[in-house]
Amino acid sequence: MVLGACLLGAVFPDFDLIWFYLVDNRAVHHHRYWVHAPGFWLLVTAMAAPFLWRTTGIIRRAGIAFLAAWFLHLCLDSIVGSIMWLWPFSNQFFQLATVRPTHSHFVLSFMAHWSFTLEIAIWLVAAFLLWARKTS
Ligand SMILES: [Zn+2]
Repeated sequence: MVLGACLLGAVFPDFDLIWFYLVDNRAVHHHRYWVHAPGFWLLVTAMAAPFLWRTTGIIRRAGIAFLAAWFLHLCLDSIVGSIMWLWPFSNQFFQLATVRPTHSHFVLSFMAHWSFTLEIAIWLVAAFLLWARKTS
């Protein structure tokens, strides 16, 4: 259950793509939606904290895992994805690097950018950890 909560929290912010494509007709960048704003994450975490503090066991660990994975998603999106770290005080995006449109499709531009190496590294570490867990 904790792993499931972690996986759900890791992808939870990108569920806003459903709204982005199906309802909002791509009117604004989906990173402007609340689930991609660390300020909203902080608000949800502050509201959940008293409940998580009082509970124990699997529910507590799953809740913490969900919130931590959600926050990690926002951190990783900040590398080249732009996040409103100062929302609600400012709508300015912050990111470590910018992916220029160097190829015909944005996915190819992302794959050619140095940050893709970081993504590959994360996958390799995860694969190694999985392998190490299965062989121990
Ligand atoms: Zn995202």
